[in-house]
Amino acid sequence: MNAKAINTYDAIVIGSGVSGGWAAKELTEKGLKTLMLERGRDIKHVTDYTTAMKAPWEFQYRGRTSLAQSSTFSNNPARGARIGNEEVNGFFVNELKHPYLEDKPFRWTRAYGTGGRSLLWGRQAYRWNEEDFLANAKEGIAVDWPIRYADLAPWYSYVEKFAGISGQKEGWEVLPDSEFLPPHDFTCVEKHFKQKVSEKLARPVTIGRVAHLTKPTAEHLALGRAQCQARNRCERGCPFGAYFSTQAATLPAAQKTKRLTFLSDKIVTEILYDSQKNRASGVRVMDQNTKKVEEYYAKIVFLNAGSVASTAIMLHSKSSRFPTGFGNDSGELGHNIMDHHLNAGANASVVGFEDSYYFGRRPNGIYIPRYRNWGNDKRSYLRGFGYQGWSGRSGWQRGTDSLGFGADLKEKITQPGGWWMGMGGFGEILPRHQNRMYLHPTERDQWGLPLVVFDAELSDNEIQMRKDMANDAAEMFEAAGFKNIVSYNNTYAIGGGVHEMGTARMGRDPKTSVLNEWNQVHACKNVFVTDGACMTSSSCVNPSLTYMALTARAVDFAVKELKKRNL
Ligand SMILES: Cc1cc2nc3c(=O)[nH]c(=O)nc-3n(C[C@H](O)[C@H](O)[C@H](O)COP(=O)(O)OP(=O)(O)OC[C@H]3O[C@@H](n4cnc5c(N)ncnc54)[C@H](O)[C@@H]3O)c2cc1C
Ligand code: SF4
Repeated sequence: MNAKAINTYDAIVIGSGVSGGWAAKELTEKGLKTLMLERGRDIKHVTDYTTAMKAPWEFQYRGRTSLAQSSTFSNNPARGARIGNEEVNGFFVNELKHPYLEDKPFRWTRAYGTGGRSLLWGRQAYRWNEEDFLANAKEGIAVDWPIRYADLAPWYSYVEKFAGISGQKEGWEVLPDSEFLPPHDFTCVEKHFKQKVSEKLARPVTIGRVAHLTKPTAEHLALGRAQCQARNRCERGCPFGAYFSTQAATLPAAQKTKRLTFLSDKIVTEILYDSQKNRASGVRVMDQNTKKVEEYYAKIVFLNAGSVASTAIMLHSKSSRFPTGFGNDSGELGHNIMDHHLNAGANASVVGFEDSYYFGRRPNGIYIPRYRNWGNDKRSYLRGFGYQGWSGRSGWQRGTDSLGFGADLKEKITQPGGWWMGMGGFGEILPRHQNRMYLHPTERDQWGLPLVVFDAELSDNEIQMRKDMANDAAEMFEAAGFKNIVSYNNTYAIGGGVHEMGTARMGRDPKTSVLNEWNQVHACKNVFVTDGACMTSSSCVNPSLTYMALTARAVDFAVKELKKRNL
């Protein structure tokens, strides 16, 4: 009895990444004694960013990836070579330790540890538009969203002010403005590109909208956050707390309330279900090091382990009431997996501007919002794509780091060089029941938990869209007068966009969806899922800002319901 009392909280949050951090902040600030459980190691703000201040020559492999390191991405070593280098403190998971299975190729990029992928994300932050919430219903795809843009707009504003989003107000319907901190500057080449693309093709270009403090507010400063220094070393962890991460922003805010208990190394294996009360009573966890099993109890549970992991926990939580997984009355749990398809775009060399320079390392690029199937534009496929683009001096992509050393470096930096520009599309993937993840019936990891299996692929809709993603990029570079234009449409497997979504979707009808309009499990009202699993469609803009807004909105609802004794 005593042990049960000690392990009892008002709320439990599973996962400490982007959405879990928000859940913990909001729950504690609204007065709830909250336990946040994280399966990975504790990564402390600043002190555990051990590579943050290192110069290139202080790394054994000069910041590149050894064969041994890329092999830890066992499902795709080539991807490991691209993103798993020695600069990132081992923040990405070692897939040899954390394997998954693929019926069809899938990229599952995870970070287990305090902050989850909030330490590693690209910080691109965009609101969805009105159409994004309407398209399924209009086109008869999957199910209708149970909410509209207007339901989320105030919550976007709320989270943006706290997170700190820099960007340029444009007044475009396709890309609603956020509450912005000052925008980053375009380079001279991007200014030229924007002008030509607007004149010749009537396509809009804006500066990327990013979760960086270009001008911190008093609220940011009070949390110990500081202005972005434009070093572009963000994936190493930011000692200035200048980009939005759990460590820099939501965790210190939750800790300030003194109502947060944070436990790392605790793998949540199951949600405990009390069939008599039709409520979740708490969670079962296993310590990742000792394998000791414990239970924690609470009035409400927020699932924020990342779309796939949250759904895996639900699928693993079986009972006589939920024989195929927690809340799975609809049979949709694990289905409708989406992402943003990428690896299609173009690169080019720029003509002119050899005498122009830029200063600092802007951690950002340009953004071109969706224009296909928008307004009068009609294509053979549904939905659309946006572009993220970058420009720089040739050989200067990573500042002076890539130019060499000593006399050679001095010689090279005194010579002006040409410019290059590249851009890649991020395309919407339609929700399809046959695209799914499930738990393998017999294969287990070292903790005895079933391995996740992915069975998902692009449909013809996305394959058609990719042709435009490659061709349009080349067309825009041509309009800008660039040379040596190379368009590409390379291999892409779902998950490669690291925006996996949709495996416990929201909807109006419990027969066809897992969650209601408040992210509540239809069949068990004290469990909320507010990470990407809840998404009913995927838009083409980066999703994390929307997870933040949905989480803050769901917590507000949950706490009001608790006060009314409805939960
Ligand atoms: C390189 C990279 C670039 C990206 N760029 C962008 C971008 O520019 N814009 C954008 O919007 N998004 C971007 N993303 C995606 C973004 O990081 C995710 O959308 C976001 O982090 C998801 O938040 P989350 O809370 O759902 O999950 P996460 O941030 O992944 O956090 C989940 C947490 O749950 C923990 N966990 C998992 N399972 C369990 C368990 N069983 N028990 C306890 N804890 C558990 C994990 O260890 C982790 O800490 C990027 C991602 C990567 C890797
Ligand atoms: S560029 Fe800005 S946010 Fe990124 S590491 Fe440097 S100071 Fe931090």
